[in-house]
Amino acid sequence: MHDVIIIGAGPAGLSAAFWCDELGLDTLVLEQDQEIGGQLHRVHNPIENYLGLKTKNGQELLELFSRDVEAADFDLWTQCEIDSVDLQTKRISLRSGEQLQAIAIVIATGVRRRKLGVPGEDQFVGKGLMESATRDRELYAGKDVCVVGGGDAAVENAVLLSEVCPTVTLVHRGKKLKARRELTERLQSNHSVTVFTETVLTRIIGHDAVEAVELKRKDGLKPFQVAVQGALIRIGVEPNTELCRGQLQLDEKGYIAVSSEQETSLKFVFAIGDVASPLAPTISGATGAGATAAKVIAARLNSGTPAK
Ligand SMILES: Cc1cc2nc3c(=O)[nH]c(=O)nc-3n(C[C@H](O)[C@H](O)[C@H](O)COP(=O)(O)OP(=O)(O)OC[C@H]3O[C@@H](n4cnc5c(N)ncnc54)[C@H](O)[C@@H]3O)c2cc1C
Repeated sequence: MHDVIIIGAGPAGLSAAFWCDELGLDTLVLEQDQEIGGQLHRVHNPIENYLGLKTKNGQELLELFSRDVEAADFDLWTQCEIDSVDLQTKRISLRSGEQLQAIAIVIATGVRRRKLGVPGEDQFVGKGLMESATRDRELYAGKDVCVVGGGDAAVENAVLLSEVCPTVTLVHRGKKLKARRELTERLQSNHSVTVFTETVLTRIIGHDAVEAVELKRKDGLKPFQVAVQGALIRIGVEPNTELCRGQLQLDEKGYIAVSSEQETSLKFVFAIGDVASPLAPTISGATGAGATAAKVIAARLNSGTPAK
């Protein structure tokens, strides 16, 4: 029996674990990946908005986090496959057959990129399908590329790519781009960018690498192809809530609903970070929520509040 089991070792889960250790709680962190850090592995841009720190990318911030994590005294299991979680009884079954139990469970499972679900999307990862413009644009310099999405991330990536690519095709299913004005203005003033609104990408085509994308206008009968050597899909994210589906109250977008104490609809079950932050997913928000959950759990356990 642990005091706290935290699921997910991104910024939120690591911060919660660090604070739980500070507060003397017996804590176990379960992470499905081989490495801790979550989305920090995908942040290739400089991090300039974490108060008191500036790092050249997510990896550098993770190295700073890791120093404190290594010095702390909590258990961390990576490559850990959770089979099921009973949030009412706080019991967790692992694929390995192990059974775990805690007084409190903290869900810090973050978000994942939304996929289009079209043919070629999995096949061409690393063979024309880009991870981000910041990371990949030198590789795609001089090539024609396509970006899918209409929000800030898609438009910002399209602008970055347009600085090095002869043509950028931006595909958005809505009538109007949703990105902030400053970004759309930069995009529209750029002659190498063609924007297709009310259009969807239906297929990524190629042999060993991406050679073209198939697009279909909403009002068009026939799909058409655009020759590109690179494609980047930025159509938003979705919360990783599979483990708790049907057990917790979610909001209309599927994010976990929490109180100001980060508690979910079940007592002694907390949710922190992006999985519970549809509006403001940030590293500082995630680490702050981790601290809040840990302090609330410690205060409850110290005051003898029953877990049920
Ligand atoms: C390209 C990019 C740039 C960004 N730039 C910034 C920035 O400049 N400033 C800023 O503040 N934020 C930035 N962010 C956002 C920031 O990275 C996130 O807000 C932050 O990582 C959220 O932390 P988290 O711990 O809630 O979730 P995550 O980082 O998503 O971590 C969740 C962890 O849970 C694990 N997990 C998921 N499901 C399970 C399961 N079933 N079992 C076990 N483990 C599980 C995952 O493997 C992962 O390790 C950026 C994000 C991206 C992608």
